[in-house]
Amino acid sequence: RAMENVLERFQFYTPALNGQVSHRLQMASHLRHAVRKKEMLLHYQPQVSLQSGKIVGVEALLRWQHPEKGMISPMEFIPLAEETGLIVPIGEWVLRTACEQAQRWHDLGVHGLTMAVNLSAKQFAQKNLAAMVRQALDDSGFSSHCLELELTESASMESPEKSIEVMKLLKAMGVRLSIDDFGTGYSNLNYLKRFPVDQLKIDRSFVRDVGTDADDLAIARAVIALARSLHLEVLAEGVEDLVQYEIMKENGCDKVQGYYFSTPLAVDECTRLLLARSTFS
Ligand code: C2E
Ligand code: MG
Ligand code: MG
Ligand code: MG
Repeated sequence: RAMENVLERFQFYTPALNGQVSHRLQMASHLRHAVRKKEMLLHYQPQVSLQSGKIVGVEALLRWQHPEKGMISPMEFIPLAEETGLIVPIGEWVLRTACEQAQRWHDLGVHGLTMAVNLSAKQFAQKNLAAMVRQALDDSGFSSHCLELELTESASMESPEKSIEVMKLLKAMGVRLSIDDFGTGYSNLNYLKRFPVDQLKIDRSFVRDVGTDADDLAIARAVIALARSLHLEVLAEGVEDLVQYEIMKENGCDKVQGYYFSTPLAVDECTRLLLARSTFS
């Protein structure tokens, strides 16, 4: 046992780990300048109404075009951006860029499209969040009613009473609120009932095997029923095939997002898709 402990601690100082640490430090210092150097960009993934079959929204998804490493996934750098606090300025850039783009699409005749933007826990805890959102809306001219902010359960539950206050401020501005990755955090239904949110997004881990796994199907149905009874809309994320699409439709899900319809698209590609289907109400 003692020997095992020694070995465990010894393992802690392997060159591989040192390499990992310096890799992270290096990445953090690059990340610091990434926005200024215009290495950040947004891709947009369509969200489709199951009732009309039309695109009713898009989610803005952050990409980092690193000069040497190529395209880096947010899964890799968002945690680092959170730890270093860089997520605050980066997140503000995301919101501003997404609102400007959505307004550009509006000017091209794509009306009523919802722009969904992810907010991290750190951003959500910022005192001036509502003011920052207000500024991004005012500067872009984008309608607050078409902006949707995505929060995770864990971000909202960190200090739920405070969250309710911030959510109320955002709701008062007309912004839509959506709970992302629903079912993966710990859900306190007492709070969920009190959160002034508009939508739940069923996490894709429950959607993946919904056609073959009875438990996942039961969970998806339960989330849809929960949303219904709380008068919330519900979107299934990660819908990759017709089977998943049909199941969500049959069970009364409102919207889907996923590779079955489209992967996240570069801005020009998304513009083409939106204009080709620009029959919005
Ligand atoms: P998310 O908000 O849950 O976004 C959905 C993720 O699922 C995206 O990954 C998207 O590309 C992926 N996805 C969509 N449809 C499918 C599908 O059919 N199959 C599979 N396998 N995947 C699908 P992505 O773009 O890599 O983003 C990962 C996560 O990074 C996001 O998860 C979100 O939590 C975070 N993120 C992305 N952009 C931002 C941002 O601007 N700010 C913050 N704070 N977080 C962001
Ligand atoms: Mg999201
Ligand atoms: Mg999600
Ligand atoms: Mg997810």
